Amino acid sequence: MHNTDIMSLNKAELISFFERTGEKPFRAKQVFSWLHKKQALSFDQMSDLPLKLREKLSADFKINSLKTVKKLCSKKDGTTKYLFETYDGSLIESVLMKYRYANAVCISSQAGCRMGCKFCASTLGGLERNLTAGEMLSQIYEIQKDSLLRAGSVVIMGSGEPLDNYDNLIKFLSIINSPDALELGHRHITVSTCGLVDKIYELAEKKLQITLAVSLHAPNDDIRKTIMPIAFKYCIDDLIKAAKFYAEKTKRRVSYEYALIKGTNDSDECAKELALRLKGSLSHVNLIPVNDVKERCFVKSDESRIKKFYEILSSMGIETTIRRKLGSDINAACGQLRRGVKEQTAFEKPKLR
Ligand code: SAH
Repeated sequence: MHNTDIMSLNKAELISFFERTGEKPFRAKQVFSWLHKKQALSFDQMSDLPLKLREKLSADFKINSLKTVKKLCSKKDGTTKYLFETYDGSLIESVLMKYRYANAVCISSQAGCRMGCKFCASTLGGLERNLTAGEMLSQIYEIQKDSLLRAGSVVIMGSGEPLDNYDNLIKFLSIINSPDALELGHRHITVSTCGLVDKIYELAEKKLQITLAVSLHAPNDDIRKTIMPIAFKYCIDDLIKAAKFYAEKTKRRVSYEYALIKGTNDSDECAKELALRLKGSLSHVNLIPVNDVKERCFVKSDESRIKKFYEILSSMGIETTIRRKLGSDINAACGQLRRGVKEQTAFEKPKLR
């Protein structure tokens, strides 16, 4: 039992552990609040618990914290990118974005990724492992502590495919909105997926109020297959059907991510085909000029092409935005920082702060 990661237990699980071992349930609530509200990193800090209980907890559980390996702050817009190391040496990235109305934290759901999207740096080394619910939460806690800011929203758009780590994602979602934790409403959380159709249905049935972002990046299967291997498993019709089902069940607008890649998916025809596919659904398209990744040869579309693409979608009644680029001077695109350090650490381990 000594190795059980206590940060990943939701309140019901913690209460059940306490009951099984003859402790009062209110103690579980206290511990939960120490971990997730006050964000204690050791049982010694839990000063209102009897010493005996603290000793028992130390024997049964561990609190896994994240070490900050690197931190980069954009001079342009204050976006801060963090590279964290897990207890077992995996590297993960998270980003703090400062908007006028709130601060958003972007977190990773896996170390690495096995989805293989051709334009994405996170997937270059494959999947290392799933992150626990505690490790997803710790990214937010560490960033809040470091920046002295509160996360007004959380997007799960860092490295990894959250729906490929479904059970831990659900646990994370159940902890984060608890009144004894961050109390962050699900409406302020976005889960981004490359399109695991079965899991989208499963999530929809839970009727949570989280926003679903679907990384579409193409208007048809032929183009999608050239950039996203997941398109061989699930066709675009089924993916959009699942996303529409999600919108119907939750009454939440689905957001479609579309990275514009020069000469691949950015023609007028692509825009028209995309608009026809999405017409009439509760949706929103987010156009993102693709970020150049050193190991990949994709280039972002020209400004004028992006504008034209936007205009076609808008004129055909599709709600569209062009994503404002934050942190462009600090490699803020998915997986880029981790990748950079991995290359460097093949020879030399970076100094921990
Ligand atoms: N696996 C999930 C979430 C992580 S990726 C997903 O696919 O949605 C988060 C978003 O960043 C996705 O929309 C992904 O397609 C996009 N992305 C990855 N690499 C990118 C790049 N080089 N330029 C622009 N967007 C990128």
